[in-house]
Amino acid sequence: MVTTERKVNFSAGPAVLPVEVLEEARENLLSLGNSGVGVMEHSHRGKEFVAVLAEAESGCRELLGLGDDWAVLFLSGGASSQFFMVPMNFLAGGVANYLDTGVWSSKAIKEANAFGQAHVAASGKAGKYAAIPTTADYKPGARYTHFTSNNTIYGTQWKSEPVVDSPLVCDASSDMLSRPIDVSRYALIYAGAQKNLGPAGVTLVVARKDFIASGASNIPPMLQYRTHLEHESCYNTPPCFAIYVMSLVFKWLKNQGGPVGIARYNEKKAAVLYDCLDSSAFWTTPAEKASRSLMNVVWRLPSEELEAKFVSEASKAGFSGLKGHRNVGGIRASIYNAMPIEGVQGLVEFMKDFERRNG
Ligand SMILES: *Cc1c(COP(=O)(O)O)cnc(C)c1O
Repeated sequence: MVTTERKVNFSAGPAVLPVEVLEEARENLLSLGNSGVGVMEHSHRGKEFVAVLAEAESGCRELLGLGDDWAVLFLSGGASSQFFMVPMNFLAGGVANYLDTGVWSSKAIKEANAFGQAHVAASGKAGKYAAIPTTADYKPGARYTHFTSNNTIYGTQWKSEPVVDSPLVCDASSDMLSRPIDVSRYALIYAGAQKNLGPAGVTLVVARKDFIASGASNIPPMLQYRTHLEHESCYNTPPCFAIYVMSLVFKWLKNQGGPVGIARYNEKKAAVLYDCLDSSAFWTTPAEKASRSLMNVVWRLPSEELEAKFVSEASKAGFSGLKGHRNVGGIRASIYNAMPIEGVQGLVEFMKDFERRNG
């Protein structure tokens, strides 16, 4: 039994999961349904886990509206492994366009350069990544274009996809399934689960099958997308438990009205926090308004001392995970799908009180 009261957890990742999901997972730890074997203990080749995998896949397909020409893969190695797996498969000495909107895009660019030329078509670096670029200088004939839909550290987000004429690849680690997307615009989307989709340990990759087929075949089988497509994510032992929890999150998301329903909720939630931040000069927000993320809200206080005090007092008041990323400092509240609006409202009340006492 849980005896400790749960905090309102604003951690950037691993992050809050829906209580209903945790409760259902707990029930199946010792015995998955009436199988008599716990969910973590089933063989990945047995019918029980095969059913879990099928449910995770169909949940994902339904939420994203994926047709048969799309593959759904459950990989390991984190989103960071996609930084090299994408160029290893698709760059092959050619050129790819990269849109640099922060730390994660920069890492992807650095790794791609080992396999060809990562052409930086636009970069927010000179402006300290406070804004999503509005223009880009794309190289024609690129193998693909890579962008990061939500910048977890800087708190910025693309409001719509960049318009490109090469296959679009997206790192959606921190906003996957937080809003509807038009998959027909994409060739491949990847997301580490631990922000918006489930526990750490699994990376969701959805990709067009013809794009996968175009990938290199002279690289280790584990690093070819086609291997995982042909073997339905069971070429080797997949991260079974993480996939199971992800399947529960997909079910939960469907009950929230799917991407359309959760997007409406996420907009409402973010507005509560941004309204508070905009209401007083005590708080400053480095991200430009037009580029603000609905997932990671970043702000500063008048001094680093006050920021430390804010984080410490917030923690005592039951709000955890608010310290900004070590690269940028300040405060960050990650308000992913599973963060209830009541959690944000509670934080805003705490903030107003903190400002009264310290402003
Ligand atoms: C967290 C994060 C990553 C890294 O994810 P890992 O699973 O830890 O490798 C990559 N991209 C973005 C946008 C992220 O937020």
